[in-house]
Amino acid sequence: MERFGYARAATLDQAIAAAVEPNTAFLAGGTELLNWMRLGIAAPERVIDINGLEPLQSIAPLPEGGLRIGALVRLNDAAQHESVMRDYPVLSQAILKAASAQLRNLATIGGNPLQKTRCPYFRAEEQLPCNKRHPGSGCSALHGINDKHAIFGWSEACVATQPSDPAVALAALDATYVTAARDGGRRVPATELHTLPGDQPELDTVLRPGELITAIELSQPSPHSVYLKLRERESYEYAIVSAAAVLELANGVIRRARIALGSVAHRPWRLSAAESRLAGLSPSDSDGIRAAIELSFAEARSLSHNAYKIPLAKNAALRALALAAKMSPP
Ligand SMILES: Cc1cc2nc3c(=O)[nH]c(=O)nc-3n(C[C@H](O)[C@H](O)[C@H](O)COP(=O)(O)OP(=O)(O)OC[C@H]3O[C@@H](n4cnc5c(N)ncnc54)[C@H](O)[C@@H]3O)c2cc1C
Ligand code: SF4
Repeated sequence: MERFGYARAATLDQAIAAAVEPNTAFLAGGTELLNWMRLGIAAPERVIDINGLEPLQSIAPLPEGGLRIGALVRLNDAAQHESVMRDYPVLSQAILKAASAQLRNLATIGGNPLQKTRCPYFRAEEQLPCNKRHPGSGCSALHGINDKHAIFGWSEACVATQPSDPAVALAALDATYVTAARDGGRRVPATELHTLPGDQPELDTVLRPGELITAIELSQPSPHSVYLKLRERESYEYAIVSAAAVLELANGVIRRARIALGSVAHRPWRLSAAESRLAGLSPSDSDGIRAAIELSFAEARSLSHNAYKIPLAKNAALRALALAAKMSPP
C-alpha cells in the first residue's frame, strides 16, 4: 500500500473543497476503497473521510412523497428502515442479499454502487492484461475466464459486469443520485450512473473527480416489488444474475412494469422493450409475459463461457415479475 494523506471533513463544503486536489478519494465505509489500495487498484494521494457529515446520515420522507436516503446511511440501517421495508421492498431485499451482515454494518448506500467489477483479472494481485485497470493492455476475459461476465452492452475492450445489488433495485425504482460538487452538483438517474465500457473501460460511472453523492431519492412507494438474486451459494456471494421487478397493478392488469437485471452488464440493465409490452397484460398471462421478456433479449450476446446466463436471466426476470405480482400492498 502506498503512503497517503488523511483528513476528516467536518462539513460538506470542507469535503468538496478538499476534493479539488487531484488523486483524492472519499472514504465512506472503506470496505471497497481499502481493498483497492491494498491490491494496488487505486493509490490515492489524499483520502477525505466523510463519516462526520451529519446531513448525509439520515433517512427522511420527501415533501412531495418518496424518500431521501442519505449517502452515509449504513446498508443494514437502510434495509431495516420501516419505510424502505414497507414501500420499497425490492431495495430492502437487494441490500440484505449483499455481502455479509458485518460488511453491511459498515458499508454505505452511497459507496455501494461505486464498487468496481469483481472480474478476476481486474482484481488479480499480479499484473495481467486488463483495459480497465491498465488501459491499452488488452482484455484477458474476452477469450479467457468469462463465465460470470456480461451478456449485454459489452465491448471488445471490456466484458465486465457491475456487481452491486442495491444499484439494480435503485435502477428498477428509477431512483436519483443527488450529488454535490464545486460547480453545484446535479441529479443523476440511477439508470445512468454507470457507464458502458465502449472504448473507455477504465471509467465506471459518470461522476466527475471530486463529485460527492449526498443522497439517493426514491419517488412514489412501490410495494409490489421484488429482488431475486441467483448465486452459487445462498449467502455472502455475488450474483451470477439478479432481477429487480417493480409492478403497478390496476384492475387485475399490469399498469406499469419496471425490470432491471444485475450482473449481466456494466450497469443495471433495464428491460425497456419488455416493460412497454407488459403494460395491459394480466400477471397470469404467462405466454404474453414470456413473449415480452424475449423482446429485450434480442440484443443479448454471450461470450465463450457464459451462454447459460441468457436463459438464466430470462427466467430470473419472469420469476421476479411473478413474485412482485403476488406481493400484497401494505
Ligand atoms: C467480501 C465482500 C463481499 C461483498 N459482497 C457484495 C454483494 O454480494 N453485493 C454487493 O452489492 N456488494 C458486495 N460487496 C461490496 C460492498 O457492499 C461494498 O464494498 C460497499 O457497499 C462499499 O461501500 P463503502 O461505504 O464501504 O464504500 P467505500 O469503500 O468507502 O468507497 C467505495 C468508493 O466509493 C467512493 N465513495 C464512497 N462514498 C461516496 C460518496 N458519498 N460520494 C462519492 N464517492 C463515494 C469512494 O471514494 C470509493 O471510490 C462485498 C464486499 C466485500 C468486501
Ligand atoms: S473484462 Fe474488463 S475488467 Fe475484466 S479483464 Fe477485461 S478489461 Fe479487465
